[in-house]
Order: sequence, then C-alpha cells, then structure tokens
Amino acid sequence: MTETVISLRGVAKTFGAFRALDGVDLDVARGEKLVVCGPSGSGKSTLIRCVNGLERHDEGEIEVEGRRLEPGTLDAVRAEVGMVFQQFNLFPHLTVLRNLTLGPMRVRRLSRADAEARARAMLEKVRIPEQAAKYPGQLSGGQQQRVAIARALCMQPRVMLFDEPTSALDPEMIKEVLDVMTDLAAEGMTMIVVTHEMGFARRVADRVAFMDAGRIVEMAPPAEFFAAPRTERCRAFLANIL
Ligand code: ADP
Ligand code: MG
Repeated sequence: MTETVISLRGVAKTFGAFRALDGVDLDVARGEKLVVCGPSGSGKSTLIRCVNGLERHDEGEIEVEGRRLEPGTLDAVRAEVGMVFQQFNLFPHLTVLRNLTLGPMRVRRLSRADAEARARAMLEKVRIPEQAAKYPGQLSGGQQQRVAIARALCMQPRVMLFDEPTSALDPEMIKEVLDVMTDLAAEGMTMIVVTHEMGFARRVADRVAFMDAGRIVEMAPPAEFFAAPRTERCRAFLANIL
C-alpha cells in the first residue's frame, strides 16, 4: 500500500498578473524522494514554499498528511514539514546548540535537557557533534547547511523540503551535504528536493520532475527521465546543466 503524504490538485499561485504556479497536480508517497529541477523562475521555490504554507496558494488544494492546508491548519501542517533553504537561515547570534534547541523548546515544549539531548543526537547524525558550542559564522558553509538540516530534524518532521540546499556552497562542501541528505533518504524520510545535482537525483530520487513556467512538464523515475526526456524544453535544460 502506498500512502500519499503530500497531495496537490490544480495548485496555482499568482504574483500580480504573473502565474508562478499554473495548475500543479502532484502526489508524493510515504518515503518517496522527489527531485525537482527546472530553469530559474520556473516556480520550484514557490512550489515547495506553498507546500509548507510559507506562500499561500490561491487556487487548488494542498494536503499534507491528510490535512488540507488552509489558514486554520497552517501551524499543524508546518509542524510536520521541515524546510532547508539555500541560505541556511541560522540565527547568527545563537550557538549551534541554541539554534537547534530553540524550536523544540518553544514549539514542542521540550525541557532544555531533552532538547539538548535531541540536538546532540542530530548533530551526530549530520556528522558535526564537535561544533555544538560554536556560532554559525565560525563554521564553513557546508557545516552551516548541515546545522540547518539538523535543526529541521530536531522538530521531528514527517516530510523534509529542500530548496537548492547546495547552491550557495563551494564545490568541495557540496558532497558532505548531499551525503547527509542521502543518509536521511536511506532512513525512509519523505523528501522533496529542488536541486540541479543530477548525480544525487540519479542515486537517490524515486522520481525526477522538470518544471517550466509554473507547471510540472515531465516526471519520471531517474533512469527514464535522463535517458529519454520527452519534451524539447527538458532536453535543452539537461543539455545545459549536464
Ligand atoms: P525558481 O525557484 O524555479 O527559480 P520561483 O518559484 O522562485 O522560481 O519564482 C517563480 C516566479 O515567481 C519568478 O518569476 C519570480 O520572479 C516570481 N516570484 C516568486 N516570488 C515572488 C514574490 N514574492 N513576488 C513577486 N514575484 C515572485
Ligand atoms: Mg528557487
């Protein structure tokens, strides 16, 4: 039995007269890894921002864990969904440990001791347990992004969304972040990953989606997706990045 965790039906989002999302239908199953690629401005960020309610879609329906996303359910849905951004978005004035304990203490009402225990476990998982007392500015970009992943995991999300998590990193740091994401995938996390790291897509994705002009134009398992893109737009895109 496949269980649908994320479901979008006819989702549209307009900014002024511009349709950033133009009718998106998508189902993501429990444990599935979906990689989303496509040209700049095609709506990838808007798509995942709508899924955790950072942007309010203005047409269609989004359901996460069977709960329809609407103003009254926003907090409940966000509690299920972890998000990792291109620009880490850590609190610069807090240590790594405090960045990780803040959400669990404030939102989940964990005691400091429990939140710290969980934070240290998550830092182990992202392979930087020794960085707990440092400030984000003292870490490399790759380490900061792994802190951001650990911070999201400390909230025990059912789903993780990644928006170009390695695009701001120097090449030598990309692998350490992708390795952590690969571990997470192997543990069975449901993931939507916007990335142009096509090696990661080949190895980890169950399906790869190509977006253009606010729509999902193609979606297929990686072997099929890369071997035989069906549209000229997707072929041209892949030819440019591979
Ligand atoms: P991608 O992540 O694929 O590069 P985005 O989802 O960020 O694309 O953006 C899709 C389109 O929507 C772009 O043309 C962008 O300029 C526009 N857009 C995104 N966010 C906003 C916003 N807050 N206000 C106005 N336009 C926006
Ligand atoms: Mg984007």
